[in-house]
Amino acid sequence: AERISLFGLSLHNATMNGMLNLIVSKAKTPAKSLTQFAFVNADCLNKAYTDSQYHRELNNCEAIFADGIGARIACRWLGVGLKANLNGTDMLPLLCEQLIKEELSLFLLGGAPEVAHQAAQQLQLSHPMLKIAGTHHGFFHEADTKSVLKIINSSGAAVLLVAMGAPKQELWLAKYHSKLSPAVGIGVGGLFDFYSN
Ligand code: UDP
Repeated sequence: AERISLFGLSLHNATMNGMLNLIVSKAKTPAKSLTQFAFVNADCLNKAYTDSQYHRELNNCEAIFADGIGARIACRWLGVGLKANLNGTDMLPLLCEQLIKEELSLFLLGGAPEVAHQAAQQLQLSHPMLKIAGTHHGFFHEADTKSVLKIINSSGAAVLLVAMGAPKQELWLAKYHSKLSPAVGIGVGGLFDFYSN
């Protein structure tokens, strides 16, 4: 897929299937450290414009996917048409199907206490064959990071979804990518909130 440079961010112009293939191929073949993916909407583009650390960590991701109409309009200004609106909400059910097929498991990190757990229950209902390796809320203290990493790593999950909002989730994944066992980590914003009620 081609790359589009937008405000210094290198966006991955892919179809939904192209995105899924990329994520699943990385999930299937674990590298030395976690492979990170990110979604950016207009709000994220604004934040990245003023937050250099967030900007840097986004560009360190394996791929950044453009989410929503704001990113589409910005790309249109550059004369580039986005192939798809790539967002976590549309991705999740498709990703679950791929993970079932590949026999890979999923860990949900983030959201208020109970939210990740409830989201997991909803996902389990809609995808009975899905292996959810574990869940944890996203409001733990820095001092508890070690135990959270241990829970994630001992779960055996191949894919870690981190829903702690942007830029927190991107910075967290970047900071701990070498200490995380899952092959893939994806920042998904408020995604679990959609699935928890
Ligand atoms: N959140 C979290 N830990 C925090 C701060 C936020 O887990 O320290 C969660 C929050 O409960 C919500 C999500 O992160 O589910 C942020 O959602 P939002 O829609 O604001 O994220 P964005 O789409 O702006 O990245």
